[in-house]
Order: sequence, then C-alpha cells, then structure tokens
Amino acid sequence: MKLILLGAPGAGKGTQAVRIAEKYNVPHISTGDIFRKNIKEQTPIGVVAKSYIDKGQLVPDEVTCKIVEDRISRADCQNGYMLDGFPRTIAQAEALDKITNVDLVINIDVDFSLLLDRICGRRVCKDCGETYHLKRLNGETKCARCGGDLYQRKDDNPETVQSRLDVYNAQTAPLIAYYTEKGLIFNVHSDERPPEVTFEKIAQKLDTLLK
Ligand code: AMP
Repeated sequence: MKLILLGAPGAGKGTQAVRIAEKYNVPHISTGDIFRKNIKEQTPIGVVAKSYIDKGQLVPDEVTCKIVEDRISRADCQNGYMLDGFPRTIAQAEALDKITNVDLVINIDVDFSLLLDRICGRRVCKDCGETYHLKRLNGETKCARCGGDLYQRKDDNPETVQSRLDVYNAQTAPLIAYYTEKGLIFNVHSDERPPEVTFEKIAQKLDTLLK
C-alpha cells in the first residue's frame, strides 16, 4: 500500500501517520522528520534545509525529491510506505509519478481557524513522533505512548506559521485538484474531536482498499 498524507501544517498528518503506520505496518516517511534529523546531525542537507525551514519556506524540490527517491528505494519500502508531507508541490508530485504509482492520497481537511493554536501549542515526542497539545498535557513532559521526551519544534511559532500557511495555499493546496483528477483522493475532515475519530474514517477506507 503506497499512501500519501496531504494537509495544511497542523492538520494532523503526523498524528494520523503514527496510527496508520502502527495499524497497517507501513514505514512512515516524513520529509520534515528527515530534514530535522539532518539538521540535528549538521549534515550538508541539514544546513541547506535549515535555512528554508527556519523561514517557513519549502526546501527546494531537487533536494527533497532526491531524499524521497533514496528513501523509498530501500528494502523496507518494497511492500509500500506512507509519505507524510511529500509531495508539497506539483513538481514533486510529477517527480514521484515518474518513479511509482500511489494507491491513495489521504487529504486531511481542517478549518484554518484551528491551525494557529494547534501548531503553536504542539509538542512532539522525539522518539515516536506522537503529537500532543500543551492544553491537554497538564504539565506532562513525557510521551504517553513510549515515554520519550516531548519538545516544541523550532518552526512551530507564530512568526513562521503564517508563512507556512501561505506556502501551503500557494504551492501545496493545488495538489488536491491534481490527485482528485487522477481519482486518488480521499478527503477526511479533522475537527476538534479526538484524532481517533478521524483515524476511524481513514481506517475504514484503508480496510476497503485492502479487501
Ligand atoms: P513538516 O514536518 O512536514 O511540517 O515539515 C517541516 C518543514 O520541512 C516544512 O515547513 C518545510 O520547510 C520542510 N519540508 C518538509 N517536507 C517538504 C517537502 N516535501 N518539500 C519542501 N520542503 C519540505
């Protein structure tokens, strides 16, 4: 099963990705996570990526596509994978079309008024990637799933968020039409209810796909 998770920053892609990967046993490939790892390790890719990520801009397509191409050619991706945060531009989608056919594009649609609060209050587990909101943590600093430390992403701040949302509208949202035309899109709405409600709808669709 080759899946793409599409959605604005803060829509809940990472939250759903953790659950999908666990239930359907597919590798979770997050380009954002790959960049953050490279930044932490101060690799040449990390140095380039940081200059864009810190400003809320997209890392250039050539760099991003190469990373994804390398990652999905690994053995653990032979039976499928889930791309979280890739593609984010039409050029990336076209590059992906040249190397593979995806089975489904899950578009997580969310009311934009929720995003600023979701992103700025977001805390992420450094080990498993599970996400939390500060309001519901009650001072807890460890992940309830795996015990890992929770941290706030450097780009999850009000200054960067507006630019990330503008980039989403200009460059990523056109992918909804792109994949709708190909008959691959599955739209699912995420609201203030627990992420399990959204996950239930995604799981129903994936179960049908696997039958
Ligand atoms: P994410 O963790 O998916 O929110 O990604 C964090 C940041 O990494 C984004 O705001 C971009 O700067 C960069 N990034 C992640 N995925 C991509 C992509 N497919 N293309 C370009 N930049 C990306």
